[in-house]
Formats: sequence, C-alpha cells, structure tokens
Amino acid sequence: MAAVMFPRMCGLGLVLAAGSLLAASAWAKAPKLPETVPVPELNQSQSEQKAAPADVPVPEARPADAPKPDQSEPDKLNQQKSNQHKQVRPESPAMAPKPGEKPTEAKPEPEPPVIAPQPPEKPAEAKDNKMLPDPRSASVPAKEMPEEELACRRRLKSMGVDFEERKAEHNAEIGCSIPYPIMLKNLGKSVAIGPGTELNCQMAEAAARFTTDVIQPAAKAEFGADLKSISQASAFVCRPRNGTRKLSEHAFGNALDIASFTLSDGRKVEISPTPPEKDAKFLNTVRKAACGPFKTVLGPGSDADHALHFHLDLEPRRNGGTFCQ
Ligand SMILES: [Zn+2]
Repeated sequence: MAAVMFPRMCGLGLVLAAGSLLAASAWAKAPKLPETVPVPELNQSQSEQKAAPADVPVPEARPADAPKPDQSEPDKLNQQKSNQHKQVRPESPAMAPKPGEKPTEAKPEPEPPVIAPQPPEKPAEAKDNKMLPDPRSASVPAKEMPEEELACRRRLKSMGVDFEERKAEHNAEIGCSIPYPIMLKNLGKSVAIGPGTELNCQMAEAAARFTTDVIQPAAKAEFGADLKSISQASAFVCRPRNGTRKLSEHAFGNALDIASFTLSDGRKVEISPTPPEKDAKFLNTVRKAACGPFKTVLGPGSDADHALHFHLDLEPRRNGGTFCQ
C-alpha cells in the first residue's frame, strides 16, 4: 500500500508544485484579476456586517438593566422632551414660511384702533347735556285729566285722604315735571302729614296705603299707641339726585322722605343711625315692609344723605325690581 501511494503522492506534489509555480507566475504577470473581483465582495460583506450587529440584542439589554427608580424618571422626562421636540419640529416648519407674510398681515391690525377712538366721541356729546334725558320730563297736562288720574283721586277719597289739586309742575331747564300734582293734607282720617306735601297721585296713594296697612299696625304693636302724624323732610323738590346727573325721583313728585313719626301718647320716633332699642325695632319693621310697595328704600346706613330719614319712591325699574339698602 505505501509503495503504491508514494508515487501518487509524488505525482500530486509535482502537480501542486507546478500549480503554485504557475499561479505565482500568473499573479505576477496578470494583476488585472484582483482589481475587479475584490472590490464588490468587500462592499457586500461590510453592509452585511452592519446589519448583523443591529439584530444582536445589545440595545435591548440596557432598558432591562435600568429598572432603577432614579433612572426611570429621567428616562421618561427624556422621552417627553424628545416627544416635545418631535411635536415642535413639524409646527415650526409650518410657522416658518408665514413670517414672510406676517408683516403684510400686521399692517391692517393697527388701523382699527385709529377708527376706534371715533365712536367714543358720540357718548361724549351725550355728556354735554347737564341731565340724562328722562321721558317724564316732557310730561305736560292734557286739557282733561286722564281717567288714570281721576281713578287715583277716587281711591284717595275712599281711604279718607284729604288733598288739594295743584298747578302742573314743569321746569324744562332742569327737567322737573308733575302734570297733575296734589297737596296732601293727611294720609287718612287719623294721620296727618306735614309740612306741605306735594306729590303725584300715585305716590300719595302708595304713602297712604302704607301708612294704613303697615305703619299704623306697627305702632300699635310696638308702643301700644296710635300713629298721629308723619313729619316729612322732602316731597316734590326740583333738583337732581346728589352726586349724579340723573334727576331725583323727588323731581317728579314720585318720592317721599320721612324724618319722624309722632304717636298718640306724644312719643316721637325719629329716624337716626342709633335710635333707642324700642324705636329701632319699630323702624326696622317699617323699613323692611316698605321694600315692595316702594321700589326704592334708603335710610341710615345707605349713605350719608339718608342718615336721618327714610327715602321711599316709586322709580320704575325693569321687571318691577326693587332697590332697598
Ligand atoms: Zn329722598
């Protein structure tokens, strides 16, 4: 066997030696082959080597190693920041192309303020009038007294109220007006009022009813005496309301200021910021009950002008509302 193999191996050795010689001579003689072949092979192998490490679970091991609370929170913050950056980025390119157009859009904006100051001049013209207009200021008596006024007088007489008719009050300059004023002699058969009390009939009727329905019973309940008279501080007065351009309800004979009540036993109950305890109870009862029959009720505590009297009026208000302080 060995004798047979040797010549074959010697034959192979000769072939290999000859091959190596041929290859060496061919490599030295022909350098064209290595130029074309190795270049495409290296590019493919490098692209495959990059893809291969990407599939390796190396990046996945990091989040598994980071369950520590100290690190997880900053990671969330980093993710939120990265998300915010991602959200801001698409908006910024959208805003970016507009700035070139903004200067053209900003020009019409400053123009309206130039027009705006013009309308405020109109209310300034209205302020030139000394008094705000009140439709009642234009009221003048008709040739014949309206049925409404006649009916009011019939109701006063039925309550025992004594009164006199007066000439129409009208002051165009200030705006005061009472087309059909009356001068009250009393507020019923047993209750006097003074001094001279000029009102419109509606206010006179309201005062008379309130005296009969509320003040008289309250005086009996609190003092065991009858109400004999009411001292008024103001009825019709042609003047504007203090501190305002609006006409007072007194300018229309539509308000009555009550300063004190005198009882049948001679007791005088005066309205003041600090009345005696018994008087205070009576006065509070009257004041609370006045809110409703009268649309405005003011008194001590409302303001300095009403520290010494109750102001009652029938000023028309929206939805029949009242203003009581
Ligand atoms: Zn008043």
